[in-house]
Amino acid sequence: MDNVQVRESLSLIEKDRKYVWHHISPYKEEAPPMIVEKGEGSWITDYKGNRYLDAMSGLWCVNVGYGREELAEVAAEQIKKLAYTPMTNSHKSAIELAEKINAMLDDEYVIFYSNSGSDANEVAFKIARQYHQQNGEPNRYKIISRYRAYHGSSMGALSATGQSLRKYKYEPLSAGFIHVSPPDHYRKPDNISVEQYNLLKAREIEETIKFEQKETIAAVIMEPLITGGGVIIPHEVYVQEVERICNRHGVLLIIDEVICGFGRTGKAFGHQHFNIKPDIITMAKGLTSAYLPLSITAIRKEIYEAFKGTEENYHFRHVNTFGGNPAACAVALKNLEIMERENLFKRSEELGKKLLNGLEELKNHPNVGDVRGLGLLAGIEIVEGKETKKPVSNEKIAKLIAAAKAKGLIIGRNGDTVAGHNNILTLSPPLSSTDDDIQF
Ligand code: PLP
Repeated sequence: MDNVQVRESLSLIEKDRKYVWHHISPYKEEAPPMIVEKGEGSWITDYKGNRYLDAMSGLWCVNVGYGREELAEVAAEQIKKLAYTPMTNSHKSAIELAEKINAMLDDEYVIFYSNSGSDANEVAFKIARQYHQQNGEPNRYKIISRYRAYHGSSMGALSATGQSLRKYKYEPLSAGFIHVSPPDHYRKPDNISVEQYNLLKAREIEETIKFEQKETIAAVIMEPLITGGGVIIPHEVYVQEVERICNRHGVLLIIDEVICGFGRTGKAFGHQHFNIKPDIITMAKGLTSAYLPLSITAIRKEIYEAFKGTEENYHFRHVNTFGGNPAACAVALKNLEIMERENLFKRSEELGKKLLNGLEELKNHPNVGDVRGLGLLAGIEIVEGKETKKPVSNEKIAKLIAAAKAKGLIIGRNGDTVAGHNNILTLSPPLSSTDDDIQF
């Protein structure tokens, strides 16, 4: 057979095996990938007709659920009218979206568009460094983040990531990224209260700033709650103390809302649970419910001011071709309109409570160490025993995920833990899920 004949004789699965390099998934002959054909509401169907409840909303992103025709229509209309203009120019959807995002936030921000969560974080780091340079503190370049957090896959965002498994084969990464430990209540010492423990963890950031010379620290980046690293939800004293510490030492606070934003935790943005005002906020995923790629770095007005003035200062020398794509901005606007019309942030809060109540029952199981969540985001920590809290092996977690899939349920797992295991199951279903979906 010649090459053309070989190509034509292959099944879809065989072609996938031959031509497609999948994200993360290891190549395993015996476990072919799921080839997904369509999505409707919270359910996806593979090309053989098997249906699954997608309790991960893809990668924590399809917030309004699958199959929204109005999102397809708005994208088509925009493409017909204006397919593209670089964001060195501007266009109506980008302007309206920036205004809309401002209305959802508690302070005044300017909006910088990119394509992915990783991009948005890269932009945040570059702005933080340039801001300090232009503000008379050129030595502030270091970024502090937390172990177990995930901030993206590009070199800077991966440097901020605190999951060694994802990093060690690509090192050395960018210089100037420092990690501290997160507040993980489940593993706190018994002899201190949750508040005391959280304050101690926040002060670890302050100590790090002092050890490193505060004049060298540009920013702290954190998610409002660690999502992919195991659904680690801080007490509010932690987040508020981190904000105070940043203010005290002239360090910018970057909040990564890539997963927590757009209703995932039951509010528009995760940080709004904690009554703080971040200097920079990054967003992606739920911004368009992943119907098209788009991300945002929102920069507090005061910081933007440092980019005005002299010829030397006013350039932020960063460009990306696709950021602020007109169809993506139009989809984001319509997506936010759907969220508002269907009251999906409130729904996330209410359904989230229902989900968590149901999951609480699992705590009676000897291998369920902890169940935690906020809004429609939940984690189930699977351990060998409640006393030892020893994470179960990768193999056992993989079996659990496969067993759920065999019953028609897609669930996730966290990316990394301190011990190098992935022992936390994660749930992040569409905010538009029905009561029956959640019951399922
Ligand atoms: N930040 C967080 C908290 C994320 O969970 C992710 C992706 O999962 C990213 C950033 C990177 O986003 P992207 O995959 O769009 O680059």
